[in-house]
Amino acid sequence: MSTGSITIDILKKYDFPVQKKYGQNFLVDDNILRGIVEAAGIGKEDTVLEIGPGLGALTAAILKKAKRVIAVEIDKMLIPILKETLADYDNLTLINEDILKVDIDQLAGSEKIKVVANLPYYITTPIIMELLEKQSRIQSITVMVQKEVAERMEEGPGSKSYGALSLAVQYYASPRYIMTVSRNSFIPKPEVDSAVIRLDIYDPEERPVKPKEPDMMFGIIRASFNQRRKTMVNAVSNARELNIGKDRIL
Ligand code: SAM
Repeated sequence: MSTGSITIDILKKYDFPVQKKYGQNFLVDDNILRGIVEAAGIGKEDTVLEIGPGLGALTAAILKKAKRVIAVEIDKMLIPILKETLADYDNLTLINEDILKVDIDQLAGSEKIKVVANLPYYITTPIIMELLEKQSRIQSITVMVQKEVAERMEEGPGSKSYGALSLAVQYYASPRYIMTVSRNSFIPKPEVDSAVIRLDIYDPEERPVKPKEPDMMFGIIRASFNQRRKTMVNAVSNARELNIGKDRIL
C-alpha cells in the first residue's frame, strides 16, 4: 500500500483532527519520502533527529535505514498513533515535546546526529536558527520547507531573495537545494509549493568567515536587511542596540 493511502486510512481510523496551529501538512508521496531519505544520506551508523514525525510516514522510511531515530512531536494526540504505527521498530525514541524546548546535545549523548524533517512552516526559521546556533552535535540538516524559504537559504548576493537568513545559514553551513515539491504531495494541501534543502554544517574552524565579534556581525546583518530601503550607513547607525555612530562607519 502507498504511504498516501496509509495516511488517509490513519486519518479516518483515528478520526484525527488535523491541527493547523501546528502546521500539520502530511506528506503522502512515496517518491518524495524516498528522495528526502536519500538526500540526507542516512546509513546504519547514523543517529537521526526527526522534528515533527506527524503520522510517521517519513519516520518509517528513516527507521529502515538508520541506526537510531529520535523523533520529537509537539502534538500529544499523535503519540498513541505513532506508537501503534511504528510498533515494529525497536530503534525509535519518541518524545512528546516542543523542539524549541529540547536540549538536543543532551539527547544525542556522545553521538553526532543528522536532522531530517518536514518542518512545520509557522516556525521554520526559529527552528533552523536554533539548530545552527545552539546545537554542536549536528552534522547536517535535510528539511522540507516552503520553496521560497529554501531559495532564501541558498541564494548568493545580488538576488532579490538574498537576506539575513541567507547570510546566517551560509555562515554556519553549506546549503544545497535538492528538489521542488508540489503542494499536491500533502494532505491537507498547503497554499504554496515546498522544497527540500540540505545544509552541511561546517566545523567552526572551517567556516568561510571568522569574525572577531560574531554578535556584532549578526547585529549589523539584521540592521542592514531590516531597513532595505535605507543606505547601509543609515540602517546600521539607526540600530540603537549596536551603538555604532555614523562617524565610525567608513
Ligand atoms: N513528518 C510528517 C510528514 O512528513 O507527513 C508531518 C510533517 S508536518 C508538516 C509538521 C509536524 O511537526 C506535525 O506533526 C506537527 O504536529 C509537528 N510540530 C509542529 N510544531 C512543533 C514543535 N514546536 N515541536 C515539535 N513538533 C512540532
